[in-house]
Amino acid sequence: MDDCLFCRIVRGELPSDKVFENERLLAFRDINPIAPVHILVVPKKHLTSLAAAGDEDGALLGEILLVLRDLAAQAGVGASGYRVVTNIGADGAQQVEHLHFHLLGGRKLRARLE
Ligand code: AMP
Repeated sequence: MDDCLFCRIVRGELPSDKVFENERLLAFRDINPIAPVHILVVPKKHLTSLAAAGDEDGALLGEILLVLRDLAAQAGVGASGYRVVTNIGADGAQQVEHLHFHLLGGRKLRARLE
């Protein structure tokens, strides 16, 4: 996707505060953090959201969750706890239409989700 924001970050056309990268995934700090730890994990493959993932993406999605676990530990919140969120579509308040998972931690998050 030529003009997709996160595809442009993946290609290195836009800067990011990278915390992890492998052949399939990139993780970088959110530009507008809402918690002391706020990291985004994105697949390099363009998927608009979780709703666009196919059964063939199961291994990729599993890898994302395991990387989130490892990044949480690396960020020092593995024991204190954290939240993983992916927003999907208009009612899910998704702003960037490239699948991404938020890793949030480093403060007590509200129990009630909106
Ligand atoms: P969402 O509402 O789930 O689509 O969230 C998109 C997230 O991307 C927001 O938390 C933004 O702050 C974040 N974001 C937008 N542009 C950038 C950027 N250039 N680098 C890092 N994070 C970004």
